[in-house]
Amino acid sequence: MPVPKRKVSRSRRDKRSANKGIKPHIVIFCQTCQAPKTAHSLCEECGYYKGVKVMRTKKERAHERATNRAAMQGSMPNPAAMAPTKPAEGSDKSSPQE
Ligand SMILES: [Zn+2]
Repeated sequence: MPVPKRKVSRSRRDKRSANKGIKPHIVIFCQTCQAPKTAHSLCEECGYYKGVKVMRTKKERAHERATNRAAMQGSMPNPAAMAPTKPAEGSDKSSPQE
């Protein structure tokens, strides 16, 4: 009868049994957009959880940034014009306590 050559060490035995409690992630489909997602978590595709919008998605934030950028560039073609005006040169040298 074959017999193990060596004793299985405590470390090796415990590493094996450490994975026995792991359960697979349960995948369900979002009720809003039907994208696969893990159960009891918000949908990262649409940002909804149980039919309520709780998060802006990455695509929405990128779209907002693009529209804001377009609006900024449309309203002010010259960014140097938006720089704050420099104070008068005389006020720089005088001390603020007077
Ligand atoms: Zn969704």
